[in-house]
Amino acid sequence: KFGLNCLNVHFKYDSQKDTYALRKVDVHIPFNRMTAIVGASGAGKSTLIDLLMGLNKADRGMVTIDNEPLTNENVTSLRRSISYIPQDPFLFNATVRENLLIIDPDATEDRIWEALEFAAAAEFIRKLPQGLDTRIGDRGIRLSGGERQRLVLARAILRQPSILILDEATSALDVENEAKIQEAIERLKGKMTIIVIAHRLSTIRNADQIVVMDAGEIIQTGDYNRLAKEK
Ligand code: ADP
Ligand code: ADP
Repeated sequence: KFGLNCLNVHFKYDSQKDTYALRKVDVHIPFNRMTAIVGASGAGKSTLIDLLMGLNKADRGMVTIDNEPLTNENVTSLRRSISYIPQDPFLFNATVRENLLIIDPDATEDRIWEALEFAAAAEFIRKLPQGLDTRIGDRGIRLSGGERQRLVLARAILRQPSILILDEATSALDVENEAKIQEAIERLKGKMTIIVIAHRLSTIRNADQIVVMDAGEIIQTGDYNRLAKEK
C-alpha cells in the first residue's frame, strides 16, 4: 500500500526482559493524509514513530514504505523528507529571520511570508518591533509557547517536507493557540503526510485516521466519528 506500513511489529528496548514496547502492531500510514497517534504516556507512540523512521529496528515483523522493506537507501531519503517538531521546539537566540533561514538560506521573502501565513504566525511577526529582523530569545523578545510553536511550524513548512511530524503529547497550549495550530494543520492537509502525536482526542478531530495505542498495542483505528461512536 502507498505509504508507511507496520506489519505485525514487535519491539523491545531490553531483550532480557519480556515487556514489549510494541506488540503485534499493524498500521498503515497513507501518504498525503493526516494520521493522529493517541495514547497515554508510555503507550508506545514515540517508539512507533522511531520504528517508522528507521531509527530502531523491529525485533519481529517489519516496516515497509510502499510495500518495500526499509533499506539504508530509502531510510536516508525518507529522513530527508521529514520535518519533526518536538514538544519543546528549539529556537536560536537570534532574529526571527535567522531562525527561519537556518534550513534554507535562499528562501525568498515571498516564501517566508507564505510559510508564516500557513503556520498562523504572520500576524504576530508583523507586530514585532522590527518584524522579521526582531531578535528573540535571551537578549531579545520573549515569545509565548504558542508563538514559538507556530514559528517552528513555519520553519518546518519552509523546508517543504513530505512528512510533517508534530509531537504535541504534553504541550500545554492555551485554547487560542491550540486552535491556531489546528487551523494551520487544516491548511496543510492533503499537501503533505501529517502525523500528530496527541493525548487528547479533541485536538485531532480533523485527522483522516486516528490510531489509539495502549501498553504497546494498537487498540483502535478509525476516524473521529467512528471512535466517538464506539466509545
Ligand atoms: P509514549 O511515546 O507513548 O509516551 P514511549 O514510546 O516513549 O511511549 O514508551 C513506550 C514504552 O517503552 C514505555 O514503557 C517506556 O518506558 C519504554 N521506553 C521508551 N524509551 C525507552 C528507552 N530508550 N529505553 C528503555 N525503555 C524505553
Ligand atoms: P526512493 O528513495 O525509495 O526512490 P523517493 O525518492 O521517491 O523514494 O522518495 C523519497 C522518500 O520520500 C521515500 O522514502 C518515499 O517513500 C518518501 N515519499 C515519497 N512521496 C511521499 C509522500 N507524498 N509523503 C511522504 N513520503 C513520501
